[in-house]
Amino acid sequence: MVKNTATQYDVAIVGAGFAGLYLLHRCRQLGLRARVWEKGAGVGGVWYWNRYPGARCDVESMQYCYQFDAELQQEWNWSERYSAQPEILRYAQHVAQRFNLLDGIDFEHTVKHARFDSEQSIWTLTGENGESLTARYCVMATGCLSKPNWPAIEGYDDFSGPVYHTALWPHEGVDFKGKRVAVIGTGSSGIQSIPHIAVDAEALTIFQRTPNYSVPAQNGPLDPTQAATIKANYQALRDSASQKHNAIDGIYSTESALRVSSEERSAEYEKRWNHGGLTFLGAYGDILRDKKANDTAVEFVHEKINSIVNDKMVAKLLMPTNIIGGKRMCVDTDYYATFNRDNVTLIDLNSQPIVRLYSHGLETAITEYLVDIIVIATGFDAMTGALNQMDIRGRSGIALNEKWQHGPSSYLGLAMHDYPNLFTVTGPGSPSVLTNMLPSIEHHVEWITNCIANMKANEHTIIEAEASAEQAWWEHVQEVASVGLKQTTNSWYTGANIKGKPNVFMPYNGGFPQYCKKCEDVVKKDYEGFVKT
Ligand code: NAP
Repeated sequence: MVKNTATQYDVAIVGAGFAGLYLLHRCRQLGLRARVWEKGAGVGGVWYWNRYPGARCDVESMQYCYQFDAELQQEWNWSERYSAQPEILRYAQHVAQRFNLLDGIDFEHTVKHARFDSEQSIWTLTGENGESLTARYCVMATGCLSKPNWPAIEGYDDFSGPVYHTALWPHEGVDFKGKRVAVIGTGSSGIQSIPHIAVDAEALTIFQRTPNYSVPAQNGPLDPTQAATIKANYQALRDSASQKHNAIDGIYSTESALRVSSEERSAEYEKRWNHGGLTFLGAYGDILRDKKANDTAVEFVHEKINSIVNDKMVAKLLMPTNIIGGKRMCVDTDYYATFNRDNVTLIDLNSQPIVRLYSHGLETAITEYLVDIIVIATGFDAMTGALNQMDIRGRSGIALNEKWQHGPSSYLGLAMHDYPNLFTVTGPGSPSVLTNMLPSIEHHVEWITNCIANMKANEHTIIEAEASAEQAWWEHVQEVASVGLKQTTNSWYTGANIKGKPNVFMPYNGGFPQYCKKCEDVVKKDYEGFVKT
């Protein structure tokens, strides 16, 4: 018998990652009754699932954490400059316990359908387990990188060994000792895991389709004095970050790479390479605007690869030829040096595509590779994947994935016309993945919960984005995306990594401060662009 646990809540929240946890806390603070459904057996979202060796944040720990609670900010101590996945997961678990959130979450609850009933103004979530949950509002806190992308390779069932996707890593870990291992994919997940797997495995073969740019993290223990200095004036760091395009504090030059001598430029790139991390691209203001400026950074990174990797043929294969910063840059520890190990081999899939998996390994167009374990590091159906895999139907009954069949559109990345009382946290059309996700999440959570509280206070029951507002915002998202070089590269930002996915630049590249200002103006004008009844 199907168990019906239908209950009336103010807010149904999907996902218990950083967005879902803060949503639940904020709802409770505002006196809203909320319930969370989470697919996993624990909190943490992306940090719950991505447990591969070397998984680590590419934004510094002191910035990649919540700022909504001053005490939490003060009491939590990060051990490294860039936190590793287990520590970030412990932080999410700590937050859930500290704010007594666990009793508001149903774990192992995967949403199958979400339906809006126009007559009653109610959203009903139906789970894969047959349970249902009803609420006036529904907030999708399902993450931007949460639907794993499995490459369409023939023969998964024929391979006799285990196949692991980095985004669905076994909780008990994987023992690579004495094993021959294949890794497919050289994005952030591959680049982070490869150096670790190489240390343990007997032999590691890396199957690369496109090389990626990676800069060293220069990770290490977090200097307690530096952490204490930040904590003594945390707000200053947060305020400064909120004024940055990517919501990450750092030094970003506005100078042109082409107006300085090559010696000066090299010295600047060298300084940033040695400092480590994503602010490498902040060396000059035109790296992502002017191809010639971009070329100077490309040349520097190519030289670095060439100087680190002993085998010059391998070095050449590791040098990306597209612009730097078009795809999200990777941040690594010992990635390029790993190719100097005797047990590591790089295979260029452009010269020998994978044909199929067979019982003992992988067959390419040229030969067979005997392996015991295959690691799939091929990323995600990003930004829309998690939403589109649920059957979400709004006022007129049209499925969201049908509305988005030619690409997503939204108003502010927060709401969609025809889907009243439905909100998305860091949805397509918001800065999201182009920023430090934590401040972006907090911004969305506060905007959405304030909106719901405002609706209640004014005895409104329905809020819906106007079609014209959504269209105007989406045109703006595309207009902003067309400036500069970023959109010239095929990437998961544009959906190009998924076969058949519409090619549309999905995140908002107008910058975090400009975006926040727009959201604030909308509220000041009594939710301009929304219809409330
Ligand atoms: P990704 O950047 O999309 O990289 C996927 C890799 O798999 C690419 O090298 C891709 O090659 C390759 N690939 C895809 N399909 C393939 C196929 N059929 N055959 C062979 N190769 C194939 O995915 P990701 O590495 O998981 O990273 C995604 C995003 O997650 C990152 O950009 C980042 O935002 C986030 N992330 C962050 C961290 C961190 O904080 N440090 C760590 C991991 C992930 P092509 O380029 O040719 O498609």
